[in-house]
Amino acid sequence: MSLVGRYAHWLHTRWPAGTVERLPEMQDDGSTAVAGVRIVGDLTGVPLLKFSADSGARAVAAIRAEPDFTARSGDTDVVDVAIVGGGVAGIAAAIEAKGAGLSFVVFEASETFSTVANFPKGKPIYTYPTGMTPAGKLQFRSEVHPKEQLLADLHTQRREAGVETVAARIERIERRGPVLLLHHGDGRTVTRARRAIVAIGRSGNHRRLGVPGEDSGKVFNRLHDPKDFAGQDVLVVGGGDSALEIAIAVAAAGGHVTISYRKPDFARPKPENVEMIERLRLDASAPGSVTLALATQVVRIEPKAVILRDGKGTESAIANDVVFTMIGREAPLDFFRRSGIPIRGEWTPARAAALAAFFLFCVFLYNWKSGGALTQAFERRGLFPFRVPEALARARASAARPATALGTLAILMREPSFYYSLAYCLCVVLFGIRRIRRRPTPYVRRQTAVLAAVQVIPLFLLPYFLLPWLGHNGVFDSGFGRSFADHLFPAASGGHGREYWRAFGFVLAWPLFVWNVFSSRPMWWWLAIAFVQTFVLIPLAIRRWGKGVYCGWICSCGALAETMGDDHRQKMPHGPAWNRVNMLGQGILAAAFFLLLTRIASWSAPDSRIGRGAQKLYDGLLSGWHAGIVPLNYYHLVDIFLAGMWASGSISGSRGACGAASRVRSRL
Ligand SMILES: Cc1cc2nc3c(=O)[nH]c(=O)nc-3n(C[C@H](O)[C@H](O)[C@H](O)COP(=O)(O)OP(=O)(O)OC[C@H]3O[C@@H](n4cnc5c(N)ncnc54)[C@H](O)[C@@H]3O)c2cc1C
Repeated sequence: MSLVGRYAHWLHTRWPAGTVERLPEMQDDGSTAVAGVRIVGDLTGVPLLKFSADSGARAVAAIRAEPDFTARSGDTDVVDVAIVGGGVAGIAAAIEAKGAGLSFVVFEASETFSTVANFPKGKPIYTYPTGMTPAGKLQFRSEVHPKEQLLADLHTQRREAGVETVAARIERIERRGPVLLLHHGDGRTVTRARRAIVAIGRSGNHRRLGVPGEDSGKVFNRLHDPKDFAGQDVLVVGGGDSALEIAIAVAAAGGHVTISYRKPDFARPKPENVEMIERLRLDASAPGSVTLALATQVVRIEPKAVILRDGKGTESAIANDVVFTMIGREAPLDFFRRSGIPIRGEWTPARAAALAAFFLFCVFLYNWKSGGALTQAFERRGLFPFRVPEALARARASAARPATALGTLAILMREPSFYYSLAYCLCVVLFGIRRIRRRPTPYVRRQTAVLAAVQVIPLFLLPYFLLPWLGHNGVFDSGFGRSFADHLFPAASGGHGREYWRAFGFVLAWPLFVWNVFSSRPMWWWLAIAFVQTFVLIPLAIRRWGKGVYCGWICSCGALAETMGDDHRQKMPHGPAWNRVNMLGQGILAAAFFLLLTRIASWSAPDSRIGRGAQKLYDGLLSGWHAGIVPLNYYHLVDIFLAGMWASGSISGSRGACGAASRVRSRL
């Protein structure tokens, strides 16, 4: 692989390439935006029997622990808990409710445990994870069960607990005052409940291939008895467990199976299923056969054949009697939409309006805090915070003396960027505490504490307060102190008298923070620090601890994403297209390197033609180029828009852009 190819590979452009399945929005405990409605089972994320049973039992325990929940078993008009779906999760919840003496009802649209009942005849069912014992009474007695035995066992446990289901499809749930109304599919019946548990699994619509012939009578997405297909030519489309299990069952029963899968290998199914497919493929004595048609797509389904197309575009026909399309199912999202429960990552007009309003707020904030037209307007009119120092001096005489702590603070309190950084630190600390409370693992605790400490101490207290206060107390007036400060924090008019903001460069490396390197004359100490950070320390740290070491433990944007964005990780867009957008960072890195070259050229020979040309290029690319009122330069596009407004305005849990640089742009 070429060097560029290896670099792109290392940057993970090739994975994760899958798109995230759309699921309803819920908290870790299954609670939703509709008060009193919880989601359990497959829809919580892990599609396994044990997790489903576990979540069902836990939901009832959580309901009982709610401070405002009181069971009123005497009230026949309103049940304590209505359970929608009589699968493993719903029945586990019902058994728990029964044991707790709650009044409850389980509505089932087709048959109790219908998903398990519809598994292929004789399918071995693995109850993973083997070491897990689900909460509640519904248990799985061995690691592998034939489907029939598992189903019988589940029914025995249900009957012994005294749980029966009511045949009804629930269309939607509505909150009306203190009760929930469950609207039945017949359009007339409504059940009233104090709490509702939605356990409808993923038995939504099967995905379609969208090819001609799909609606002919020989295409199925469920296998009942594999023996029906002995001696027949069967095509199974898909590469997940469901597809492989059908292929195994049909081949074992004497069918001749071809598996068409669009990818070149099986990455998703259980290893046992992949091994079994391999065994059947190579076993000439097996009653049936398995042929793999990997990296192919179905083009057309004909009465006695199917046309497949391979990766090179070549089409071929294979003999065919029956097709199983096992390419997944869409979660039954309409149920949630009808019930007012938002779907993750789904745009609604209200969401779009909220994002636009928040983005406008970020534009306002940035302009106000960073010397834009708003800063000037606020200053001219003496609006907040430009009169704060005078007010402080009137209240406390010491505020007028810069050498006192209050005096140093008073100078700061005239600067909008001080409040911005203070708010930033508060967000990281407060949301960091919330994150630790939500996930109190040793890793989360340590990482959040380090991130917060870096934002508060070297990136806030040091440049805003500590260094200026030392300066006002004469520490940088003579001797080493003076030489140190002259090299790192040159004199400035106004404010504290020195450019203490450059101390951001102790933590924020080039090109995240460019202003200590892109100075009008070379600042040698900063150049040395930036070189060691960017080309020695960070690469060494990455080699030792991995790529996330800087973004996840130090960087300001990482800090915001890990704390404030922690709740919103699922909103981050995924998929191959978004992976390619990640490469935008490489373009920005190239621009930063180009700027560096022009900067070095203009420093080296300021009076030569090349030096003057480089200076012109540098000025334009850094901040000068505009197309009309649209800025086309690094400062506005990268520093303000991408790294600042976009990063703060789209707290997506992604570290896709870096906000830190913009915190200090006003100092330029
Ligand atoms: C082919 C296949 C193979 C699998 N193999 C394994 C395995 O080997 N091991 C394993 O651990 N897991 C396996 N699973 C996953 C396992 O079946 C699920 O995790 C489990 O069934 C989920 O339970 P649940 O109660 O959440 O949903 P489900 O079992 O799907 O139950 C949902 C129930 O809700 C009903 N329902 C839906 N909508 C409504 C409505 N509006 N009103 C009323 N009722 C409604 C449905 O009819 C259904 O009975 C497999 C799944 C499939 C599809």
